[in-house]
Amino acid sequence: QTQGLSAKNVHVYYGEKEAIKGVSLDFAPREVTALIGPSGCGKSTFLRSLNRMNDTIDNARVTGEIWIDGQNINEPGVDVVLLRQKIGMVWQRPNPFHKSIYENIAFGPRYHGIKNKKQLDHIVEDCLRKAALWDETKDRLHNSALALSGGQQQRLCIARSIAVQPKIILMDEPASALDPVSTAKVEELISELKQDYTIVIVTHNMHQAARVSDKTAFFYMGKVVEYDRTDKIFTNP
Ligand code: ADP
Ligand code: ADP
Repeated sequence: QTQGLSAKNVHVYYGEKEAIKGVSLDFAPREVTALIGPSGCGKSTFLRSLNRMNDTIDNARVTGEIWIDGQNINEPGVDVVLLRQKIGMVWQRPNPFHKSIYENIAFGPRYHGIKNKKQLDHIVEDCLRKAALWDETKDRLHNSALALSGGQQQRLCIARSIAVQPKIILMDEPASALDPVSTAKVEELISELKQDYTIVIVTHNMHQAARVSDKTAFFYMGKVVEYDRTDKIFTNP
């Protein structure tokens, strides 16, 4: 399997309903893969299988293999907390913790054992810089994150998602609740972050997929019906 993230013959069942019907995809480091397709085709469900969200939270049953760092994580006994440290998540609605900007970033690293204040300060600055948010927030790190605009909150959530040094970032429609200017900023961030991460992004926006992704997987009724380099998919013959 590849070094990044690899799904092999994944099926997802909600009760009797088979929402994902045998999907295999490889996600390479330093690439953005867009999952596109009509509403209800299974994009979110598949994304949520990649970090064990839908069996641990949504009560789904997942079969098949999901390989990360040479480990099949779709097996009993896998440490899901450790797993979530390897995978950052960004959601459709900006959902900062109801805490300060600083605490939004510091929470994860502290939870995973970093107690030293200097080190936490360093991580907070580093992540905010990577999310292009440092200049806007450096003078109000201890103010509530909820005072930020929607676009800033989403960039804070992106900063938070990388604070525990994951290798993979999963994004579920990360810009669909944002205005055009904020959307452009988030897209720009994705393009910068991909140098250091394996990124999978769900979007219903084909233009966005064309702008930010290297590979595109087109989902339809629980299956991948087309998969290729994005420039090939979006080039007219
Ligand atoms: P998409 O992200 O492409 O809009 P989803 O993954 O949300 O699609 O949904 C795929 C299918 O699974 C849909 O038929 C949806 O109704 C169903 N589904 C999604 N989440 C659940 C759930 N928690 N319980 C039962 N069915 C669900
Ligand atoms: P820089 O990126 O400025 O070179 P370093 O990599 O030297 O920073 O990091 C300094 C210390 O902080 C190291 O111990 C490093 O492991 C730790 N560190 C940096 N960023 C993070 C992070 N996002 N999460 C956890 N630890 C981090």
